[in-house]
Amino acid sequence: MKKNILIVPGDGIGQEVTEVGKSVLVKIAEKFGHEFSYDEALMGHVAIEATGNPLPDETLEKMRNSDAILFGAVGHPKYDNDPTAKVRPEQGLLKMRKELGLYANLRPIKLFDELLSASSIKPEILKGSDILFFRELTGDIYFGEKGRKNDNNTAYDIAEYSRYEVERIGRKAFEAARTRGKRLMSVDKANVLETSRLWREVIQALAPEYPDVTVEHQFVDSAAMLLIKDPRRFDVVVTANLFGDILTDEASQIAGSMGMLASASVGDSTGVYEPIHGSAHDITGKGIANPLASVLSAALLLDISFGLKEESDAIIAAVDKLLKDGFRTKDISDASTPAHLLLNTQSAGAELL
Ligand code: ATP
Ligand code: MG
Repeated sequence: MKKNILIVPGDGIGQEVTEVGKSVLVKIAEKFGHEFSYDEALMGHVAIEATGNPLPDETLEKMRNSDAILFGAVGHPKYDNDPTAKVRPEQGLLKMRKELGLYANLRPIKLFDELLSASSIKPEILKGSDILFFRELTGDIYFGEKGRKNDNNTAYDIAEYSRYEVERIGRKAFEAARTRGKRLMSVDKANVLETSRLWREVIQALAPEYPDVTVEHQFVDSAAMLLIKDPRRFDVVVTANLFGDILTDEASQIAGSMGMLASASVGDSTGVYEPIHGSAHDITGKGIANPLASVLSAALLLDISFGLKEESDAIIAAVDKLLKDGFRTKDISDASTPAHLLLNTQSAGAELL
């Protein structure tokens, strides 16, 4: 297979981990006989420094022309203490989502057996958890009208969803459920919210087209509780922007470390694959960042954008083996980890495949 992949390392540890993610793609292409070509582009703080723009036109052009994007992270602490800064790295992210029509955010929560003890949830409840979240990314309370009234004493944010928006992400989730455990949980708050009533209506209307998939509707409060109480009850989950934002962060704790979780943003054109963690400037340049989230992002890229399931599974199996062999990066190690099994960012990549 011939494909071109754009690498957008961004800021902080994004630079360090995407280098490892890319090296794994190179190894996989070699092993399976694919011809992948790579290009690189600037985004975030590094792009602001170089061009004044967090998402330069040149980067956007390259994004549109690539088959998939392996992304790092954007952000820099200097903006945290400067709320008035007009140009900010995160603006690049929102613009990228809009320009590329990325409306679905996929977050697999897969717990590697070896890391069971790293979670704060009991192993017997957790063992075997494997969830795939679909969070809607372009609508909801984040993008509706917002403002102040009553002499600045009242604030409001309006939540909106169209049938079309719910249907397109609903279909993606149903299709994914078909390839997995054939169970779909739709999360809403239909007892209170009109947007949720529409959400449920649309999901229910889609269900007959996927007779092999069992659909369960849960209220978001109940889903938040069940996630901790009985995570194995979840397989594919589809939910709105706000609920997804909160539930996916909650679910990330099931998997132990931020350094282990990948995500995909997909929609009308090129898909973007990235770790769920940010730029983490506190550990930047120390060589201790866990690169496995980027490696697993590369696996997701192969599976979703290129349909290369076997290649994707080979990467996941390599991560599994690395952990089974006892290797650990600092974030997933403890006092019992022997020094010779402690990996840095680079050596973790070198041990794989
Ligand atoms: P941003 O502002 O871009 O979100 P951040 O500084 O908030 O970045 P996060 O990525 O949100 O950092 O992560 C929070 C903390 O978790 C980091 O400060 C870091 O110590 C740790 N962390 C995140 N990712 C990794 C990783 N890949 N390996 C090891 N530790 C990590
Ligand atoms: Mg953060």
